[in-house]
Amino acid sequence: MSNLPQNPYFKAFSRLKAYQYEVGNSSYSARLAKLNALKRALEYSYKDRLREALYNDFKKPVLETDLTELYLVIKEIKHTKSHLRAWMKKQKVETPITLLGTSSWIKLEPKGVCLIISPWNYPINLTFAPLVSAIAAGNTVIIKPSELTPNTSAVMAQIVSDIFSDKEIVLIEGEVEVAQDLLKLPFNHIFFTGSPQVGKIVMKAAAEHLTSVTLELGGKSPTIIDETADLENAVRKIVWGKHINNGQTCIAPDYILIHKSVKEEFIKRYKASVLHYYSKEASTSDSYCRIVNNRHFNRLVKHIEDAKDKSAVIELGGRYNSDDNFIEPTLISNLPEDASLLQDEIFGPILPIKTYRTIDEVISYVNSKEKPLALYIYSKNKKAIRSIIDNTRAGTTCINTNALQYSNHNLPFGGSNNSGIGKSHGIYGFKEFSNMRAVLKRHTKGPVDWLTPPYSGVKQKLMDFTIKWL
Ligand code: NAD
Repeated sequence: MSNLPQNPYFKAFSRLKAYQYEVGNSSYSARLAKLNALKRALEYSYKDRLREALYNDFKKPVLETDLTELYLVIKEIKHTKSHLRAWMKKQKVETPITLLGTSSWIKLEPKGVCLIISPWNYPINLTFAPLVSAIAAGNTVIIKPSELTPNTSAVMAQIVSDIFSDKEIVLIEGEVEVAQDLLKLPFNHIFFTGSPQVGKIVMKAAAEHLTSVTLELGGKSPTIIDETADLENAVRKIVWGKHINNGQTCIAPDYILIHKSVKEEFIKRYKASVLHYYSKEASTSDSYCRIVNNRHFNRLVKHIEDAKDKSAVIELGGRYNSDDNFIEPTLISNLPEDASLLQDEIFGPILPIKTYRTIDEVISYVNSKEKPLALYIYSKNKKAIRSIIDNTRAGTTCINTNALQYSNHNLPFGGSNNSGIGKSHGIYGFKEFSNMRAVLKRHTKGPVDWLTPPYSGVKQKLMDFTIKWL
């Protein structure tokens, strides 16, 4: 604690700390004004700069930037605006008969000074969507975006300094060391999005100050296709969900578990769908972005080479080009269980496919791994769908589609254990940045006074009656 004044971000932190009550007690309309300012920046004043920055960072197509970054944050803002008045109200709760003469409510009060650490894969969305919840809940915030998408981080820094006071919201760009220094400060809440490995570092640092955390992490998301599935629908959804953002999506289908009888048909249709979406040469397609940097490119190439060394079958793709971090849409079957593609989160346009014979086999395979952030089921068999959901655990699930669970703001978004702690979006994000303060007010003399000393036989009888009947 005594070293804190030497921390390079202590001044900024102290400024936000000093101002936290003013922001915390800000009115509905003051919070609305901040959300509107952010919405205007994304919708109008900074839209083109953000699109350009993401293109420069990893050739992200404009339509994908609009859909997966700008639209999703704007939607979060619209949803929050239409519910914020209700969320800010005190929530009355029932009074048990033993507490007659009192009333109770919950005040969702701001946590205070919060830290948001975001990843590179959806840099705008995963920085600003949690910020919307933090602002709505009345917090002051320091943001540390990823160093791997520097163009986008620079524009976001401009947006923040342009539209917010530095007593309320500050964005600090920089390498991992910046996050490490920030993590030493006694924040009231940390909202981290990134890998499970770094999530553990964040949680350890938070423990030092007993800071609460939201950890939005990743992992391997299984996609199960049974023999009753509408294969054409499954293929179209999976090819889209796997290649949007070039597979660098936390809820992308990570691997396929398919019933043996439909594997060949699935592969045939998958090839046709990739051809249709990205043409014969995906490298020339304007709809196909790139791997974010050379380190991640090499990581993915190693997966492909490891699969080849282990005599897996490259059903589609498998080529790559290090000049611009390009990897073809790649489908691989016949992988042995120790292949790295079946062990690590893939986070790229490579899809392993494994066959099964029975639903029980699928369930025990999924349960042998960490709980996934997303689990997808393609089937028309209600009993099989129910059995998979009831006998596995996952942060989120879609049936006969993928990735869309993220865009319904009435659903909580987040993982479970290794794939995350806590939830985001809508009311769930608002609650994550709030403390549920329990308030009880006494109006008249209540029965609780009967139980004060000196204790007597009558009072004991009253206690016995209370335990038995009230
Ligand atoms: P990452 O964990 O490497 O980095 C995330 C952030 O943490 C960055 O801002 C980085 O600067 C910081 N960081 C990195 N190392 C650190 C350290 N040692 N100490 C402190 N801070 C550190 O993750 P990434 O590569 O940017 O993103 C990919 C991962 O994020 C994948 O695992 C993916 O599944 C996950 N993810 C999850 C979600 C979700 O909503 N659950 C969304 C997107 C990505």
